[in-house]
Amino acid sequence: MSTDFDAVIIGAGFAGMYMLHRLRQKGFTARVFEAGEGVGGTWYWNRYPGARCDVESVQYSYQFSRELEQEWEWTERYATQPEILRYANHVADRFDLRRDIRFETRITAAVFDETANAWRVETDKGDRVAARFVITAMGCLSSPNTPKIPGLEDFKGPTYHTGNWPHEGVDFTGKTVGVIGTGSSAIQSIPIMAQQASHLTVFQRTANYTVPAHNRPLDPAYVRQVKANYPEMRRRARSKPAGIDFTINPASAIATPEAERRREFEKRWSYGGLGFMASFSDLLLNDDSNKTAADFVRSKIFEVVKDPRTAELLTPKNIIGCKRLCVDTGYWETFNRPNVTLVDISDAPIERITASGLRARGQDYAFDCLVLATGFDAMTGALLKVDIRGRGGVALRDKWREGPKSYLGLTVVGFPNLFTITGPGSPSVLTNMLPSIEQHVDFIADCLETMRARGVNVIEPVEKAQEAWVGQVGDAANITLRSTCSSWYVGANIPGKPRVFMPYIGGFPAYIAACETVVKNGYEGFALA
Ligand code: NAP
Repeated sequence: MSTDFDAVIIGAGFAGMYMLHRLRQKGFTARVFEAGEGVGGTWYWNRYPGARCDVESVQYSYQFSRELEQEWEWTERYATQPEILRYANHVADRFDLRRDIRFETRITAAVFDETANAWRVETDKGDRVAARFVITAMGCLSSPNTPKIPGLEDFKGPTYHTGNWPHEGVDFTGKTVGVIGTGSSAIQSIPIMAQQASHLTVFQRTANYTVPAHNRPLDPAYVRQVKANYPEMRRRARSKPAGIDFTINPASAIATPEAERRREFEKRWSYGGLGFMASFSDLLLNDDSNKTAADFVRSKIFEVVKDPRTAELLTPKNIIGCKRLCVDTGYWETFNRPNVTLVDISDAPIERITASGLRARGQDYAFDCLVLATGFDAMTGALLKVDIRGRGGVALRDKWREGPKSYLGLTVVGFPNLFTITGPGSPSVLTNMLPSIEQHVDFIADCLETMRARGVNVIEPVEKAQEAWVGQVGDAANITLRSTCSSWYVGANIPGKPRVFMPYIGGFPAYIAACETVVKNGYEGFALA
């Protein structure tokens, strides 16, 4: 059967854009479908005040084009959402990507036709297209979670979700605002909203760890030096578990004398950012080591927050780094402001949203605007919104009822010619997303090229290889403390979602090596037909 395109790509974020570019370079035809009006994915939707990346801008950028790397000028250590969105648009223009992207179009279904060996894809705009391959590039944190709190529809004022923020922005000046959630999105937006609002009430279910960003404008001399040494920096980053170039101290925290340990934590703290978790190599492997880092951060809260009761409430009790560590600018300081109130809802859920606010622990709280900083149905949410059906009409939703299973986080048994960029079972959210995306895109593009050269039409993982990979993902998860708490990594934030640690935590280098071995051995673990 002739198809409309070699590949249909779902999503025009960083993954979808690079996938399109790479396929075109190799002479394949592709059409991208994107729900938004523009490119950028996560950076298109997450426009809440204070949104910025917690990976340094010079590293959170594409490396596939040396020219792009040299010409783009990042202005801050941690780029803001508007700057990253400008970068995404620049990439789209520079590589002339838009002509193959259909915007404001959501794919609703993708069904594999076994007689034609092709995918039949449907969109909410009535498109019906056939493609040999479907490549999902929907992002891991792109399906916003709106918790089913009773009465949500009763609230008379505007309700905003950080993951789907109005494009025109929101001015909270003179308004009273209630915020539910204290994850990364909340921790970034609360300090800014507090500067605008007449009063801000923060409803906290779980106190979170955060480290200071120490964001600053980039020194042009530093940028010049980075640009002169980009390949070397990228190579170092690829050799690190998170795909980010920062130095990991090989020592054990608990085996290090207290004064020396504190010096190391202080050094990392004053440098700022996620590298704090690399202060020692065993912070996520050993409870006692973890506690030293947790206690260090806890002590910092009491240095900043003036009211001891508020400081106590802001103090996280769980393992540091188990939930994703946050990076902030002035978060705890915000709770010293007279117009900010922290409400602890850890021991009882919000009873209901009311017309004028919400009711929690038997008390009514009134506000003009409600902000839901309540996160995402992570890793599988966006994928399973599409009705994806493989061999025998089996739905991916059913296949993954007990949790996602994949081969390399890229392919699924029973779903031939389907690739999931940064899918569950790959390092994805535990790494710098840009290099992880590029590694997946390169793998897929090379695979399609090899198939074409060998006259192969269909690729699909075999059950045994998938089971072995799922076992490896599980074994790696069991070694770390990261799989032990109620986080979105294990689906715990979504009622009814199976509890499975979804990303591969064996590290970026081990993952790259696994993919390279598969290719070297002639796409080992795949059936090629
Ligand atoms: P999140 O980390 O999942 O945080 C959601 C917050 O909402 C949590 O505090 C959660 O409490 C609370 N919540 C959810 N449902 C609730 C309910 N029914 N009642 C009360 N509280 C409720 O979501 P996020 O902040 O959007 O961040 C998600 C991820 O996106 C991050 O971990 C990070 O990977 C990424 N992100 C990155 C950046 C960055 O680069 N700087 C910025 C934003 C987001 P519990 O903890 O008790 O569940």
